[in-house]
Amino acid sequence: MGRDKAGKQRRPRPEETHDHHGWSLDAVPQPGGWAPDSKLFEDVTGAAFEGCVSCQDAALTLLVEDAVTTARLVELACGVIIGLEGDMPPSQVDPDAPGNSSPEFRRLARAGLGKTTDGMYHECEQMTPSERRAAANTALDTLVGFAAMRP
Ligand SMILES: [Zn+2]
Repeated sequence: MGRDKAGKQRRPRPEETHDHHGWSLDAVPQPGGWAPDSKLFEDVTGAAFEGCVSCQDAALTLLVEDAVTTARLVELACGVIIGLEGDMPPSQVDPDAPGNSSPEFRRLARAGLGKTTDGMYHECEQMTPSERRAAANTALDTLVGFAAMRP
């Protein structure tokens, strides 16, 4: 045990030097029995909140392979929008209304209207990963904007 640390010190690789703490889903009741990946959700929202593009990109690549977790992200973004606006405005659901939300986000938001949001989950299962990515990007923009409003 008398070894000192004179040897080469292992340099941490960039992705090991920091961690992001986003929204955890563990404490949130899951609607409809869907089981999103809470760790993945935390990674993607944490990187987005902290503006870490490389981690966000890596987490998004994993996220979009997971339709349920992507749908959950969009669902939470819709919840934020409804909380602010009282309803889903046309710019978030109508493909022809002007606005920055991606058509894919609107498609999922539209599918989630109704008594339950199950339609959103089913619709997300039908999407390709790149469509999910477009939807997730709008959802993250929404959540990041919301988080910035209430520090
Ligand atoms: Zn990062």
